[in-house]
Amino acid sequence: MNPLSRPGALLCWLVLFCLGAVWIGRQEYLDQHERFLQNTSVAQRMLSQKTVQHEAVLATLAALSHPPSPERLFPSLRPAMPQLLGLGHLPGGAWSGSVAEPPGLPAAIERARQLDRPVVLPVDDARYWLVAPSGWSLLLDARQLVPAADFPPGLANLTLSVGTTPLRLLDKQPGTAAPGWSLALQKPLGAASQPFPMRSELRLTPGAWPWAAWLAWALASALLVAGAAAWQRSLAQARRQQEQLRLGAMARLGTLGEMAAGIAHELNQPLTAILAQTRAAERLLDDDDERPAVRHALLASAEQAKRAADIINRMRALAQPSPPARREALDPDALVASLRFLREPELARQGIRLGWHNASPGARPRGDRVALEQILHNLVQNAADALAGAAAPRQISIEGRADGADYLFSVSDTGPGIPAEALPRLFAPFYTTRPQGMGLGLALCDTLAGSMDGRMSARNLSPSGACFTVSLPLSGGPQAAAEISHA
Ligand code: ADP
Repeated sequence: MNPLSRPGALLCWLVLFCLGAVWIGRQEYLDQHERFLQNTSVAQRMLSQKTVQHEAVLATLAALSHPPSPERLFPSLRPAMPQLLGLGHLPGGAWSGSVAEPPGLPAAIERARQLDRPVVLPVDDARYWLVAPSGWSLLLDARQLVPAADFPPGLANLTLSVGTTPLRLLDKQPGTAAPGWSLALQKPLGAASQPFPMRSELRLTPGAWPWAAWLAWALASALLVAGAAAWQRSLAQARRQQEQLRLGAMARLGTLGEMAAGIAHELNQPLTAILAQTRAAERLLDDDDERPAVRHALLASAEQAKRAADIINRMRALAQPSPPARREALDPDALVASLRFLREPELARQGIRLGWHNASPGARPRGDRVALEQILHNLVQNAADALAGAAAPRQISIEGRADGADYLFSVSDTGPGIPAEALPRLFAPFYTTRPQGMGLGLALCDTLAGSMDGRMSARNLSPSGACFTVSLPLSGGPQAAAEISHA
């Protein structure tokens, strides 16, 4: 798994934040809704209690055998009932009241008697007479049933429909222009005689949204993603170090093999000559007195020389590159991705950009993944060495493309190029123009390419730079090549 890139981390954070923000918003909405329902119920109970109180007053008045006159009664009831504007009764058809008789009172009393409970005789949108079957009547102002300050503070808009137009008891959110969600609930008051519909409304404006919680979640989720990205980076770093150790170990083994091949080549000829000369001496010394001792010495030396030749031959056999373990179709994109993953940080520190262009997507070279990785690593390392003193822009470009029945990987750089005299000897073991060089990198590449039925080539680029190409058989053979060229 590759570590999160900056846009990837940003996207992760955005998704995480949005999911969390939606959850927080939903919880907040549910909380507000619950509180709204509770507050509305409290308001409905407060108003209902008042209307029930009216019924109780009327029942008490009806029960009195010698009720006081309404003019005397009114001032004593008023302090406990600020909503009471007047009262009176109609004993025997003659009105006696603290205010004038309302029109339609006898019919209302008749209706109350039929229903056996008080009935409402509306005056306007706020005032109404409550008329009892006994003839006792209260003139009430719905505006003053409950003082506005006594309602639960969480309520915003509250109306009570006494007449045709709803009466505004609370109006904390006038107008509907503010954006947000609306909560609304309508309930009738509890007294059977005054079941006025009460409606409560609350608009959840941006001011009521959970900004602090969202901000805290934005920070927490950013920290979470940053922590995860850092953890992934440290894992990737550990993996990179492991890979580098593995490649380093392989390179050392490869170099050792090349070195052994070089040493064997250098030493085998003189040793063969020693062997031939000591055998000739043995033949010439046949007749002398000291001959047995000389012969013995020469034989022993021949024996030693033979032994040395044997050892060297064994070393050469060891150094013979063993055939690659696998011949498989390789994915150039994956190969280069792993190469870039390993090399890019170090190249970036040297100000070198590493580019990759797959000119034949779908084409697959055939070979050994580890051997090809090693070749590409060597070529990239050589290119980086060549760019060490070069002027900007410093660029290494890898290109992969199918060519006939072959697949070509080219590694080009913008360095000074290959000196003309070096070109014919580049792939010879121990050939180097660099003071610290061993001259084994390209020789090893050539050997590895050969072991996969491939070959290496090199050329200079115009105006400057070098291009090294490793060509391998195309997986699927000429048929695949034809298909790719048709695609
Ligand atoms: P060394 O590690 O000693 O450089 P190599 O076999 O890798 O051995 O390379 C042999 C020589 O090939 C180098 O010394 C250098 O002269 C030449 N060479 C290799 N790659 C490049 C390149 N990208 N640009 C210029 N010269 C190069």
